[in-house]
Amino acid sequence: MSGEESKPAVDGNEERIVQVPPSLTVRDLAGLMDVSPIDIIKQMMNDGIMANINQQIDFDTAAIVGSEMGFEIVPELFEEEDAPRAEPGVPPRWRFISDEDPANLRPRPPIVTVLGHVDHGKTTLLDSIRETNVQASEAGGITQHIGAYQIDVQGRKITFLDTPGHEAFTAMRARGAQCTDLVILVVAADDGVMPQTREAIDHARAAQVPILVALNKVDKSNANIDRAKQELADVDLLAEDWGGEVICVPISAKERQGIEELLENIFLVTEVAELKANPDRPAQGTAIEGTLNERQGVTVTLLVQNGTLHIGDVVVIGDRCGKVRAMFDDQGNRIQEAGPSMPVAILGMPSVPTSGDLFEVVESDRVARDLIAVRVDAAREAAKVSPRVITLDDIFQRMQAGDIKELNLVLKADVQGSIEPIAKSLASLGSDDLKVNILHQGTGNISESDVMLAVASSATVIGFNVEIDSAAQRLAEVEAVDVRRYHVIYRLIEDIDKALQGLLEPVYRDVVTGRAEVKAIFRIPRRGSIAGSYVVDGQITRNGLAHVLRGEEQIYEGKIASLKRFTEDVQEVASGYECGIGLEKFNDCQEGDVIECYQKEQV
Ligand code: GDP
Repeated sequence: MSGEESKPAVDGNEERIVQVPPSLTVRDLAGLMDVSPIDIIKQMMNDGIMANINQQIDFDTAAIVGSEMGFEIVPELFEEEDAPRAEPGVPPRWRFISDEDPANLRPRPPIVTVLGHVDHGKTTLLDSIRETNVQASEAGGITQHIGAYQIDVQGRKITFLDTPGHEAFTAMRARGAQCTDLVILVVAADDGVMPQTREAIDHARAAQVPILVALNKVDKSNANIDRAKQELADVDLLAEDWGGEVICVPISAKERQGIEELLENIFLVTEVAELKANPDRPAQGTAIEGTLNERQGVTVTLLVQNGTLHIGDVVVIGDRCGKVRAMFDDQGNRIQEAGPSMPVAILGMPSVPTSGDLFEVVESDRVARDLIAVRVDAAREAAKVSPRVITLDDIFQRMQAGDIKELNLVLKADVQGSIEPIAKSLASLGSDDLKVNILHQGTGNISESDVMLAVASSATVIGFNVEIDSAAQRLAEVEAVDVRRYHVIYRLIEDIDKALQGLLEPVYRDVVTGRAEVKAIFRIPRRGSIAGSYVVDGQITRNGLAHVLRGEEQIYEGKIASLKRFTEDVQEVASGYECGIGLEKFNDCQEGDVIECYQKEQV
């Protein structure tokens, strides 16, 4: 121990103090408390509150439930009297540049992402671009993998994001990041367009990012450039030399052939976009990745997209803030500042952010905390006003309100043969006001990447004769993505058609909240019979619906008409208690029947 006076031991209870935001779901609260959501739902039931896992609850409810479960619930953010208030309509994900005075804008380097089918050479290409460049530079520093790197091509810079693949690309976009100016689509010339090539194309198109094709592995004897170009033409990427607009550069990532030409073409394609930023303002951008190691603590790679980042700056990432204590470039050199399009690794954040979280520099800690409070509020308001994801149920209203002009769909089916007729029929739906736009169609189960694409592009996922992967299912639940599966084509088409016309009937499912066993029957003159029952599970509620089960058979479906404890009317009766249940228009309960209380929940 050092000579320092020892601090009081951490109170064992301290671990049970949980910070929660002003509003959160049952699932979120369970996560923060590190308990099962089921335990929270049970506790809430005991308190007479029926909740499902996605139920939004306020701070007070969380505090009560938490304290009953032995936790101390404290507000996540302290309130300050003059903290700015959230303005309704402030988007939770802010965008860069749009509010800059054009006079302050300067050209910035392009930011490039590499996509393509597995094993077509994305990693080899990224490595070879980087190594060629490091060897060329005099410094020749030790490269550090920080998630992105920048190269210098005769005085002009290009930034590459170092995590190839459309999954990472779309996951970042789903978090609000827009940090790719150009996609390099790597297609192995010996293999051609493969399923993930198609996915990558659709993901790039959904993001409205231009595509430059690198026809790789041309060193291989079985490389067939023309065949690859034909297959690209079949997916509407017509090569320039075939009369189209897509630049295809033959390369060998392994033998480092064609790399310079590829880099030249990056400038050519991105030149039209006139990429600009204002270097003379506090930095804004995207967190690319983060790592935690014992020696250095948390290292976060930030991609500066506007402004300039300096040592000592106070940075807000999502709902966390920290101060830039040290800053490194991708070759491990300590640097003092970083301008637009530059990726830097910084020390000083309290925790590792999620890739794609946006960051910005603010004046002081105080402003940071206020901003976080505003952002949390704004995100909540925005979630209420306009959910990010479009469900078929709300499409008509959002279309009427002018919120959306396109119904984006991700379509997955069991076989190619069913995709075409479905896509064709869907294309014929819609009107001038609202078009059906299939972002991606493919065979196979609904995957995480499909759901991610739906999140990033406000789309609905439609499955025909396919399952949904369990990871995709979890993601869809967390992100509230509308995933609909069908086994009959006309039903699928009919649903979309009805949704477009505002005729889709909401679908409900029964959620059982409790069960009671009938122990005795009391006949009450003029009021029918009352089932004297014992609640064995969950709870029976006065305004609930009921099934009566006799053995395997359901003999009644209707409403609970009265609920009493002894002589008193009550709103609910929890498990372990006896009660008298009256059912609407039903007097035939028998001893031994089970009364199942349920509610209808919209799916
Ligand atoms: P990724 O999955 O797209 O990142 O593909 P990789 O970069 O890991 O490459 C897959 C395999 O293809 C590796 O064995 C590479 O060495 C090989 N490869 C990549 N580029 C070339 C190339 O230009 N020519 C040849 N012959 N092989 C290559």
